[in-house]
Amino acid sequence: MQELRDLAKKLLLDKQVNAILGYEWDRRGARPAFITEAGDCDRLVFDHRCVQNLAAYLSPRRANIAQLGRLAVVIKACDARAVAGLIRENQLKREDLVLIGVRCGGVVVNPSDSEQLNAENIAPRCVGCEQREPTLADHLVGETQSAPVGKANRDLRLSEIEKLNPEERLSLWTSLLSQCTRCYACRQVCPMCFCERCIADKTQPAWIESSPHSRGNFSWHLTRALHLAGRCVDCGECERACPAGIPLGLLNHKVARIVASRYGYAVSDDPSRETPIGSYRLDDEQEFIA
Ligand code: SF4
Ligand code: SF4
Ligand code: SF4
Repeated sequence: MQELRDLAKKLLLDKQVNAILGYEWDRRGARPAFITEAGDCDRLVFDHRCVQNLAAYLSPRRANIAQLGRLAVVIKACDARAVAGLIRENQLKREDLVLIGVRCGGVVVNPSDSEQLNAENIAPRCVGCEQREPTLADHLVGETQSAPVGKANRDLRLSEIEKLNPEERLSLWTSLLSQCTRCYACRQVCPMCFCERCIADKTQPAWIESSPHSRGNFSWHLTRALHLAGRCVDCGECERACPAGIPLGLLNHKVARIVASRYGYAVSDDPSRETPIGSYRLDDEQEFIA
């Protein structure tokens, strides 16, 4: 923690950045913090309760953040994938940021969950996470962390769903998605949802029905999942923000598995790596068109 605070102080005192975007404690756990004074850097913290993906503040939808000037941002490896995605899609310039990578041993589902990280409360995406140190970072702080363990197993859950017949799968997802109230918290919190005007908000023509019933809900979720194919960084923020408890991570994970098997692509924190959705290859399979 002291290493992080000392580095943040130095960056501000040397005028390398105008503000640090990191985490601080609040009564419910950790929350995002914007620090502009070196004397406030002792507020900075990092541990398994720092669940938020701060890259969401770098999205062009948050134009007010750009007014702070040059930023240093604390990033976990999954957050770094979002920063890389924004750079790759020309929403950010790498040279405009200082990235403080933190070595991560997993986070809880909710910042208020517990002071201890354990197999029960760890976020499902952290179980089996292979990259826990961002390579995109300018600085790397914290001690090396061991691989997180937990009981959640998204691949097993997906395998169970895949064993259902099409009617049963439809019934399962109809039931899950029927709880969606179309509050769009999942979209607002997502670092990779940065369209100036979301297709779900368009009314002339209205591509997606806006009222929360099955037909519109299916359109919304399938459109969003496909728009994020090969772009979702698996930060878990949409699922955490959803007040209806819909397992959006399962849907995103399923799409990520399809992208991996069809295109051999896994989302990474290398901004120079093209995504399948933004590139064209002559040897792309297209048997589904025939
Ligand atoms: S997915 Fe990986 S890098 Fe992200 S919080 Fe979990 S363990 Fe850390
Ligand atoms: S869809 Fe969800 S998990 Fe994927 S990048 Fe957006 S907020 Fe993160
Ligand atoms: S956050 Fe949940 S309830 Fe709100 S629109 Fe997204 S899936 Fe639906």
